[in-house]
Amino acid sequence: KFDVLVIGGGPAGASAAIYSARKGLNTGIVADRFGGQVADTLAIENFISIKATEGPKLVAQLEEHVKEYDVDVMHNQRAAKLSRNNNGYEITLENGAVLSAKSLVLATGARWREMNVTGEQQYRGHGVAYCPHCDGPLFKGKPVAVIGGGNSGIEAAIDLANIVEHVTVLEFADTLRADEVLIRKASSMANITIIKSAQTTEVLGDGKKVTGLTYTDRVSGDSKQLTLAGIFVQIGLIPNTEWLKDSELELSKFGEILIDAKGATSLPGVYGAGDATNTPFKQIIIAMGSGATASLGAFDYLIRHSDE
Ligand code: FAD
Repeated sequence: KFDVLVIGGGPAGASAAIYSARKGLNTGIVADRFGGQVADTLAIENFISIKATEGPKLVAQLEEHVKEYDVDVMHNQRAAKLSRNNNGYEITLENGAVLSAKSLVLATGARWREMNVTGEQQYRGHGVAYCPHCDGPLFKGKPVAVIGGGNSGIEAAIDLANIVEHVTVLEFADTLRADEVLIRKASSMANITIIKSAQTTEVLGDGKKVTGLTYTDRVSGDSKQLTLAGIFVQIGLIPNTEWLKDSELELSKFGEILIDAKGATSLPGVYGAGDATNTPFKQIIIAMGSGATASLGAFDYLIRHSDE
C-alpha cells in the first residue's frame, strides 16, 4: 500500500513524487505517458533558470530526477476509477489491477482541443501552436491567426498583438463569446482583425512550416485564404478527468479538479495538481509548483491521519 500514489507523470506528477519521496513516504506514480504534454513540446524558453530547452530533453531530466528516489513508476498504465476503502483509496487501472493508497495526488493534465483540419497535425510545432505564453515570441513581427473568439482566444489576440505584426481572430459563430471588456480592448487595437462566422478548413504550409490557412465564410459560403506564419488554436483545454466523473470527487463545470491553496480536493487525503485542476494558468513551472504543494499537503494530511 502506498502512502502517496500520484496519478500522472507530467511535470506536476513528477514534482509531486519527488516531494513525497523526499519525506520518506512510500510513493508510486501511475503514468499513461511519462512527461505528459512536455513530451510534445519543441522549444521551451520560459522554464526559469534554463534559458532554452526542448520537451523530450526536459522529460528525460524529469525522469532522471524521479529515479534518484525510491519511487515506484508504473509506465503506460491508465487509471480508470477512484474509490474509497476503509483506510484510504483505491485506484483501479484500465488493465484491472487495483492499487491502494492512504493519499492520492491527481495530476492527469489536460489536452488542447484541436481543429481537426488537414495540415493541423503536420504543422503542429511548426507554426500551429496552442500556447501564446509559450510560443508568442517565436512569431515576433509576423502575421498570425487566433482560432476561437472566446475569452482565451481574445486574450491570446491581445497578448500576441503586442509582439507580432498582425493578428486575425477567426470565430466560428456569428458572435464572440469573450467578455465585453476583452472584446472592447481587442477591437481598439489597430493590428487585430476579427472575422466572425468563419470556419477554418485547412492549414497551409510549404512542407516545413505554416504559410497560411483557408476558411469558409459561413454567411456567403465563399472560401478565403490568409497568409500567416502562425496559427494559435484557442478552442478549449480539456482536463483529463473523464475517469473521475463517476467518483465522489468534486469537479468544476469544465471538468477541472477543484483544489484549495494546499492542493486539497473535496475528498480528504486526495490532492490535485497541474493542468487537470482549476488553477487559472497552465504552464510547466506552475504545474511543478502545484505538484510540490499537493505533496506537502498530502504529507500534512498523513501526519495527522495516519497511525501506522
Ligand atoms: P500533463 O503534462 O498533461 O501530464 C499529464 C500526465 O498524466 C501524463 O503523464 C499523462 O500521460 C497522464 N495521464 C493522463 N490521464 C491519465 C490516466 N487516466 N491515468 C494515468 N495517467 C494519465 N508550458 C510552458 O511552461 N512552456 C512551454 O513552452 C509550453 N509549451 C507547450 C507546448 C505544447 C505543444 C503544449 C501542448 C503545452 C505546452 N505547455 C508549455 C504547457 C505545459 O506543457 C503544461 O502546462 C504542463 O505539461 C502541465 O503539466 P501536468 O503535469 O499538469 O500535465
